[in-house]
Amino acid sequence: MTQADITTVSAEQAAADLRAFAARGPMPAESRIDLVGVEREAMVALFAEAGLPKFRANQVWQWIYHKGAIGFDGMTNLAKPLRQQLAERFRISRPAIATRQDSIDGTIKWLLRFADGNEAEMVFIPEEDRGTLCISSQVGCTLTCSFCHTGTQRLVRNLTTAEIVGQVMLALDELGGFPTGGFNRRLTNIVLMGMGEPLYNFENVASALRIVMDNEGVALSRRRITLSTSGVVPMMERCGEEIGVNLAISLHATTDDTRDILVPINKKWPIQTLLDACRAYPGVNNARRITFEYVMLEGINDSLEDAKRLVSLIRGIPAKINLIPFNPWPGSNYVCSNDEHIERFAQVVLKAGYASPVRRPRGRDIFAACGQLKSESRRQTRRELRAEAAE
Ligand code: SAH
Ligand code: SF4
Repeated sequence: MTQADITTVSAEQAAADLRAFAARGPMPAESRIDLVGVEREAMVALFAEAGLPKFRANQVWQWIYHKGAIGFDGMTNLAKPLRQQLAERFRISRPAIATRQDSIDGTIKWLLRFADGNEAEMVFIPEEDRGTLCISSQVGCTLTCSFCHTGTQRLVRNLTTAEIVGQVMLALDELGGFPTGGFNRRLTNIVLMGMGEPLYNFENVASALRIVMDNEGVALSRRRITLSTSGVVPMMERCGEEIGVNLAISLHATTDDTRDILVPINKKWPIQTLLDACRAYPGVNNARRITFEYVMLEGINDSLEDAKRLVSLIRGIPAKINLIPFNPWPGSNYVCSNDEHIERFAQVVLKAGYASPVRRPRGRDIFAACGQLKSESRRQTRRELRAEAAE
């Protein structure tokens, strides 16, 4: 950010700004446009429509994404009447916090409530050298992976771009992350590993990530963002090409028979098809490896044979393997592999030349660990919708 950004406005510019708004009266609160979630180019176009020059859009962009402004009042490089008129036309939103839980290990979980009352969870995991925010892309999930709590909740709806960006903004508010770019950044990484399948909501996810990656705002580089997919093969290439973030694949099994049960999307895009798409992932190389996630389920996928099959399956793909101890949830039917089996598995993978960190479960006491997220939101049945309409 340069000093020029905080200079005061010239009298001529202020007059021009005001003329631009003069013909338009205030908009009713409910139809004011939410600027959060509007990509930079689109924001410039919105401002142009209101008769405001590009640099005004850029200033407001910096206020929102660099300084964390949630209203127009404090935008001191805009003349007061202009701030007021912007407020009559636009708004800057955040999801509401329904609850916040703090784990004994420092993990924080928020249940977020969106404008229509639907809810989704978000988790912050502090570590020594980084702080990772795990965000959701959908309320519920269309997929039904048998070991995942979210998979028991039907898809209610996709989150909008504003709601996805809003999660990051809210986390920055809560963690003292504004203005962005300071030395003691607590939030350094983002993973799309919360509720939902991000590649089934690709447009909104991509748009949100472009906003978060913009250099004059939150400015998180694509190297610090990881998108996890259960294996939506047709969207993987676009993901690499259009947003270029790190890719994590929920592999979890080494035979199609087992994966069909654990990750049923496998029936559509089986293991070999998925791995071919990984080989072709744009930008994959030894410096940018694909992460294979592998949940450790006692007696299901944790044998020595599985470990050996795994390394031969992924041969040739620059990869690391993330072993995830299974996190139980109320009603789950699996048991986590014991430490000895996890260690045995990890050794085979390591000897084959792949990093095989075991993901230490975080926030289990507050149900914030991988696969434990779920909200009470549910899709209304047709009958409920009819009853509501009749009221
Ligand atoms: N839908 C995406 C991202 C969300 S899930 C996907 O499936 O990849 C994030 C990770 O947590 C996935 O690898 C998922 O398979 C894993 N996971 C789900 N339930 C889990 C559980 N109960 N214990 C451990 N990991 C789980
Ligand atoms: Fe959905 Fe991912 Fe859970 Fe599967 S693991 S049900 S894709 S959130």
